[in-house]
Amino acid sequence: MIANTGRDSGPEMALRRELHRRGRRFRKHYRPLAGVRCTPDIVFTRARVAIFVDGCFWHSCPDHATMPRSNAAWWEAKLKGNVERDRRNDADLEASGWKVLRVWEHEDSVAAADRIERQLGATEATAG
Ligand SMILES: [Zn+2]
Repeated sequence: MIANTGRDSGPEMALRRELHRRGRRFRKHYRPLAGVRCTPDIVFTRARVAIFVDGCFWHSCPDHATMPRSNAAWWEAKLKGNVERDRRNDADLEASGWKVLRVWEHEDSVAAADRIERQLGATEATAG
């Protein structure tokens, strides 16, 4: 059985805990774009920063991507479709003035939170 694709994965919770520890407030699974089925895992509504925590398998991480041996063609199409949808979501969000950050599930939550805070800082500095 392949790790579940559901909400609130371990890496996602670790990152949320780290951001909370730093006093950051955000929405979970909020849909930034009306009518678009795109729900980032962590959303900073005021700064307009959307965070996705991407599973290494489901989003084909360059370091840990694997391809199941049975139903290989189906899986290849499925995983390719996931990545294409990711890029489409990024483009839709950015076209609406959002910044998108993607965090791999293998990333250290402290390093990821640093990256997010740099983005938030940059956004706040220019929001003036
Ligand atoms: Zn990975």
